[in-house]
Amino acid sequence: MSWTKTIGIIGGGQLGQMMAISAIYMGHKVITLDPAADCPASRVAEIIVAPYNDVEALRQLAERCDVLTYEFENVDADGLDAVIKENQLPQGTDLLRISQNRIFEKDFLAQKAQVVVAPYKVIKSSSDLADLDLSKKYVLKTATGGYDGHGQVVIASQADLPAAADLADSADCVLEEFVNFDLEISVIVSGNGQDVTVFPVQENIHRNNILSKTIVPARISDELAQKAQAMAVQIAKKLELSGTLCVEMFATDHAIIVNEIAPRPHNSGHYSIEACDFSQFDTHILGVLGLPLPPIKLHGPAVMLNVLGQHMEKAQAFIQENPSAHLHLYGKLEAKHNRKMGHVTLFAEDAEELGKGVDF
Ligand code: AMP
Repeated sequence: MSWTKTIGIIGGGQLGQMMAISAIYMGHKVITLDPAADCPASRVAEIIVAPYNDVEALRQLAERCDVLTYEFENVDADGLDAVIKENQLPQGTDLLRISQNRIFEKDFLAQKAQVVVAPYKVIKSSSDLADLDLSKKYVLKTATGGYDGHGQVVIASQADLPAAADLADSADCVLEEFVNFDLEISVIVSGNGQDVTVFPVQENIHRNNILSKTIVPARISDELAQKAQAMAVQIAKKLELSGTLCVEMFATDHAIIVNEIAPRPHNSGHYSIEACDFSQFDTHILGVLGLPLPPIKLHGPAVMLNVLGQHMEKAQAFIQENPSAHLHLYGKLEAKHNRKMGHVTLFAEDAEELGKGVDF
């Protein structure tokens, strides 16, 4: 059996690119499927240019690769099932189906993984919103297709009900109780089908519903951090996880509430490239290949800033002033507003310091 493998990645954006870089330094060959010939992964890997859900292209990828993985969860699970050989997609298509639909996801988290989630209810139409107890606040989310806050309505009073009713009549939804959290946090966990390894807890700061800054370690008590890591491990074990998964959570002063999972490396784990001895991309590749996973060490407190299209000049100035900062640019040709162009990671004496000054 050959030690080096050919790994097929569905999606050639920045996550596919950084997965490919990890795979390549370990000696593997990478082929990516992406509709754009000049996608970020094209700079480091061979590309099959086709839509993500083109079954013929998926078949071609499957025929040429030992192992397949994906950089995002909206892949056609049925299409993949039709073309993959046995054990060729270690992450499996069930995990895709769970993370593509908030109803399946919440049921999995609450009933199978048995972690704490915000109290929720499935909403099939606006009539399910009648008799809502408006002494509480809620978030209504579409079951499928929502991202970065799209497909969501916060219900705080009677005035929000018309917009909520419109959303509920347009698609199946989940109604969640609003969580008055102190911090948003996430935990990266990787598995190899048997064992798991877990990263430190990350604190995430969003701007306009897009991740802006990640601070690690998160500014929460050790007790809460251990609880958050234990929940991520519990979810990973229930999934018999292969590869990397991100668990997004809310932290209050005494509790951790799981919000959602992403079955892949995540923007909030990019700091791990420099700040940990193995990155979330390294452990993703080790995990999908079924190899032993290392325990993860954090070298020191760090912050990651996203470089969006509108930050390109500020990021260059920042690097001039902070030569110890690590700049990553993904090679996207056009710097559109809010488009993730790259990120910057830097270390500081303590996370408190990082929370304050560092920004674009
Ligand atoms: P999501 O698409 O579930 O990641 O939600 C997007 C953002 O909406 C989250 O990052 C939170 O800031 C906010 N949010 C989502 N669900 C809730 C909730 N149940 N309570 C309070 N805020 C929420």
